[in-house]
Amino acid sequence: MAELQSVESALEALLKDVKAGDVERIDCEAAAGRVLAESVTARLDVPPADNSAMDGYALRQADAGQWLPISQRIAAGHAPDSLAPGTCARIFTGGEIPPGADTVIMQERVEAQDAQAYIPDDITLGDNVRRRGRDVRADTPLLEAGTRLEAAALGHLAGQGITQVGVYRRPRVALLSTGDEIIEPGQSLAPGQIHNSNRPMLSRLLERFGAELVMRKHVADDFATTQRLLREASERADVIVTTGGVSVGEEDHVKHALESLGQLDLWQLAMRPGKPLALGRIGQARLVGLPGNPVSCFVGAWVYLRPLMGALLGCPRMATLPRLWARADFETRTQARRHYMRVRLEFTPEGVVAHAFADQNSAVLSSCLEADALAVVPEHTTLNEGGRVECLWLTD
Ligand code: AMP
Ligand code: MG
Repeated sequence: MAELQSVESALEALLKDVKAGDVERIDCEAAAGRVLAESVTARLDVPPADNSAMDGYALRQADAGQWLPISQRIAAGHAPDSLAPGTCARIFTGGEIPPGADTVIMQERVEAQDAQAYIPDDITLGDNVRRRGRDVRADTPLLEAGTRLEAAALGHLAGQGITQVGVYRRPRVALLSTGDEIIEPGQSLAPGQIHNSNRPMLSRLLERFGAELVMRKHVADDFATTQRLLREASERADVIVTTGGVSVGEEDHVKHALESLGQLDLWQLAMRPGKPLALGRIGQARLVGLPGNPVSCFVGAWVYLRPLMGALLGCPRMATLPRLWARADFETRTQARRHYMRVRLEFTPEGVVAHAFADQNSAVLSSCLEADALAVVPEHTTLNEGGRVECLWLTD
C-alpha cells in the first residue's frame, strides 16, 4: 500500500500562493463578518469628554464635607455650564462633567434639601468620572488589517463615526455535490437513493467561513456533465468545492473530468475520516474535492476549507483552529491514520472533559450534531479513558 500523506503537507499544498482578493469599500452597516483590508486609526477620543459614571452630584472634591447649593442640572446629551465655585451640579449617568468639577458622588450618599446638597467628606478625587479618551485615544491604532468585523469591532467603528471600511472581497465558491444516488430534500426516496446532506451542511459552513456561494449544483455520475459543470464553476468561482467522486471507484468522475480540464493531485491522507482528498486547479480556480461521506465533508471543511477561506479573506486568525487540551471520557486506538473525533466539550471545575459520540463512523452524521470540537488522536496512539487529548475548537 502506498504511503499515506500528512494533513500538514496537504494543507501546505492547498495554501501555497493563496492571496487575499481585491479590496472593496462597503458600508459598515453591511460589513458584519467581513475582514478589514486596512488598518483603521482612531480619529476621535472616546468618550469625547469627561462624563459621569453615576446619577449623583458633580463638585470640586475640595468642597466636600458641607452643604453646597445645587447650581445646575446636567442630563446626558446636554452641554454643561462651568461650575460656579462653592456649588455642586445635579448630574446623571453620561452627563458631561462641567468645567471646574473634578469628582462625582453617587446620589445614594447625598442628602438633598431645598436646592442644597450635603456632600460627605470621604470622597476621592476623580471618583465616578469617566475620563475623556479612556476607551480610545484619537490618532492611535483602532483596528488592524485582517480583523474580522464582529460585534465589538463594528461597535468600535461606529464609536468613531465611521460609516465605510475597506474589506477584502469574499471568496466566490462553487459547491458541486456528486453521485447518482443523491436526491434533494422534498423528493421522496426511490430504492438506492439518499438525500443530499452535504449541500446544506457545507453551504452553512462556507458561509460561516466568509464565502459567497455563487453556484450550487448537483452533478450526476457521468463524465460529460461533470466536465461541463466543472468548467462553468471555474469561470464563476475562486474555489470549487466538490463532494464525492474522488475515490478510485469506476463511478468517480471528478478525477477524470478535472484531469481533462486542469491539473489535479489526489491525496491519500493519514487522517480519519476523510482519507481521499483532491486538490487541483482549473484556470484561476482552485478545487478542493472532499469525499462524499457527510462526516468526511464536515471534518474536511473545518480542516481544509476554513484555512483556505481565511487566506482568501486575508484573515490570519482563521489559519488554525483554537486548540485546547481536554480529558477524554473515552478510549481509542489509532493506527496509521490520525483520528479527528467529534466531541462535545464539558467545562468542569476540574478542567475540560471531551465526550465522544459513541459511533465515530464516517457515515454517521449524528456524531457531528453536538460536536463543538475535534479531538485529534495522533497516528499509532493508544488513548486511555481519562487521558489527555488535544482538541480543535470548532469556531469560525
Ligand atoms: P463517494 O465519495 O462518492 O464514494 O461517496 C461516499 C459515500 O457518501 C456514499 O455512501 C455516498 O452515498 C455518500 N454521499 C456522497 N455524497 C453525499 C451527499 N451529498 N449527501 C449525503 N451522502 C453522500
Ligand atoms: Mg459517489
